[in-house]
Amino acid sequence: MKVASPKLTFWEKLYLFEVLKGMGVTLGHFWKNLFNQSAMPTVQFPEEPNPLPVRHRSRHRLTVRENGDPKCVACMCCETACPARCIHIVAEESPINAIEKRAKVFEIDLLRCVFCGYCVEACPEDAIRMDTDDVLVVGDRREDFIVDLKWLLHGGDFLERRRERAETAPVQGEPITPPTTPEEDQGWPEGTPYHRPKLPAGWQTNAKNV
Ligand code: SF4
Ligand code: SF4
Repeated sequence: MKVASPKLTFWEKLYLFEVLKGMGVTLGHFWKNLFNQSAMPTVQFPEEPNPLPVRHRSRHRLTVRENGDPKCVACMCCETACPARCIHIVAEESPINAIEKRAKVFEIDLLRCVFCGYCVEACPEDAIRMDTDDVLVVGDRREDFIVDLKWLLHGGDFLERRRERAETAPVQGEPITPPTTPEEDQGWPEGTPYHRPKLPAGWQTNAKNV
């Protein structure tokens, strides 16, 4: 398909007047906003959070039954559907006869998550949702972003959780350099001042496998 180039007039070919026209638009907005700041579309985030769309997808949570037990039956549908492979589940036998399995470990690496919502769509039990309105997911080490079963069930403020973890974690040797090999990524060698928790064997954290 050929796209015809627009024919420029003599004045447009000079560019000078087009540049002045553009500057006129910029100055027009400048003066308008200067004397009518309340009508500016700028949002003072994070002090004034922008309302989230009704169908937004925010940080995950796991839902519970009426008796408080997790609804998750460790069917692995969400883990299988996840295109970022950031969900890690270990199943165990459920003590309830009517339910075969439950999740012993349920972790999501929010650094890898692309917030596509496929896990929510794939779940046959309505056990996972992305409706927490929590979009402030920040941290300064990888572990800050791996959320576990307990936290997914009971929630809480992500920033508060990070602060708590930062207070309890040993700080020798920080800042921690990110792992560069798969072997490093499976845990720090003995004698390293900072004790980095070993990632579960099922995680593939080297970039080549993403
Ligand atoms: S939102 Fe998408 S990428 Fe994130 S855990 Fe769910 S399926 Fe995986
Ligand atoms: S959250 Fe839903 S899809 Fe994922 S393992 Fe649990 S029951 Fe299955």
